[in-house]
Amino acid sequence: MIDIINLNKRFDNGFTALESVSFSVKKGDLVCLLGPSGCGKSTILNLIAGLLTPTGGDIQFDGASVIKTAPKDRNIGFVFQNYALYPHMTVLENVMFPLTVGKHKMAKAEAQKIAEEYMKLTNIEELSGKKPGTLSGGQQQRVAITRALVQKPDILLLDEPLSNLDARLRLRIREEIRRLVKEVGITAIFVTHDQEEALSISDKIILMNEGVVQQYALPQELYLEPANLFVANFIGSPIINTMKITVADGQMNFGDFQVPLSSLTDSRKKTEITDGSYTFAIRSEDVKPEISGGVVEMETDDNEVIGRDCILRFEKNGLVVKSVVTLDQAVKNVTRSLIFNFSKAFVFNEAGERVY
Ligand code: ATP
Repeated sequence: MIDIINLNKRFDNGFTALESVSFSVKKGDLVCLLGPSGCGKSTILNLIAGLLTPTGGDIQFDGASVIKTAPKDRNIGFVFQNYALYPHMTVLENVMFPLTVGKHKMAKAEAQKIAEEYMKLTNIEELSGKKPGTLSGGQQQRVAITRALVQKPDILLLDEPLSNLDARLRLRIREEIRRLVKEVGITAIFVTHDQEEALSISDKIILMNEGVVQQYALPQELYLEPANLFVANFIGSPIINTMKITVADGQMNFGDFQVPLSSLTDSRKKTEITDGSYTFAIRSEDVKPEISGGVVEMETDDNEVIGRDCILRFEKNGLVVKSVVTLDQAVKNVTRSLIFNFSKAFVFNEAGERVY
């Protein structure tokens, strides 16, 4: 169990990279730290590994603070984006290396036996005699992960481990990483800025922005129940439809059209929605283009095919609404009446907090 408690990090130049970050990771879970560039993901990993010292808060492994524990004594495996393999050593020598130095130091024959066991697990046995320079990016990353695992760490930290790989390989290696982590039963924290990667690989996701945790939840929860406007905008592809609205006289005013506030499901209201300005958000699969019966008539000006589905883009007086339909419903330059599924929509106040 990893407990991060009110962690703060202010760098020497006065920049605050993390503010009161708290979360817990259960033993054996694979958790993703997700967020835009610069939000503090790598800083958290470096603090957990002991490569940085926090300016406040605590980091506990199984209930005991490790703040004063040296990095080498935290029993952590770290896998970086750039692999960091030794170029003059073979794959086998690279994997064995941590077992031949420092606290893991053991006889060469024993180290080789353990290295070969793990190389079997990560499917790199046949690369044993090769030098890193002759391997593909995916193979190098597998070697780096194997080298981290042979040390039998309690915790595996992976900092954007797939970002140097091409799209197809990323898909394969991320499935492999999940399988491995589960097979070895290790607790893993995986940093990525790619929401799809995080959604597919994680048991839970910590979504960060500007050094602050926005939501820590199951992947599907982030999508279905975003805590705030940042989360709603960050998670989901295509990006969620957002519209500025004002509420007055029991009506939601979208500019070109109005919808009674009573269209919203009472039980989903987080607070009373009083008169004022809000952001209305609805995912494109919750907007259905029909012949009639919708909240507004709009013309579709573009469509984008995404595999078996198609995104229709509707536009009217600057208001853009996207709707996902199946390929056989792909149309262009036709007017449709847009039906909103209000029971799946969200409303955020001006501070970005969710009120519905
Ligand atoms: P990326 O996805 O781009 O790697 P990240 O979420 O991992 O980003 P961090 O590397 O944790 O972000 O950095 C968080 C913030 O702290 C950034 O704004 C960065 O510029 C700043 N920062 C990082 N290291 C230092 C440092 N040594 N001194 C001052 N500021 C720093």
